Amino acid sequence: MMNKVLVSACFLGELVRYNGEIKELLHPLLQKWQGEKRLISFCPEVSGGLPTPRPPAEIQSSSGKVITSSGKNVSNAFLRGANNALSVCVEHDIKYALLKESSPSCGSNTIYDGSFTQTKVNGQGVTTRLLRENGIKVFSEINIEELADLLED
Ligand code: SF4
Repeated sequence: MMNKVLVSACFLGELVRYNGEIKELLHPLLQKWQGEKRLISFCPEVSGGLPTPRPPAEIQSSSGKVITSSGKNVSNAFLRGANNALSVCVEHDIKYALLKESSPSCGSNTIYDGSFTQTKVNGQGVTTRLLRENGIKVFSEINIEELADLLED
């Protein structure tokens, strides 16, 4: 059976980003997979109940909580979104995800450090962490080729 891939909805040009901007990932592999009907589009933050646009949020390195730039704790919405993402993966028997790098939900190699100073640190977003804990392999736009190699197997 063809492997399906959970993909960040913003990569497909959907209006889901925190700042309300559209930022499609224009990559031939993504277009190929879309043509093959492999992709299941998902935005954890919108699924968790957050509006678009919404205030930027970052994971605090000290507590692990997700806090907006104005100090609001939005951890529960982020966790809800992560759990919804996992449910979608279980429902569609998804083993792979392609998620937007550095997002507090979707980052898989780096995230912002919680200081709102555009400082990145090694880390992963809330959804990525939960998916990985459940055996799902998560990739981003920087290592999309590695995912392609796995899908070819
Ligand atoms: Fe894109 Fe993920 Fe942010 Fe949603 S939560 S806008 S899918 S990076």
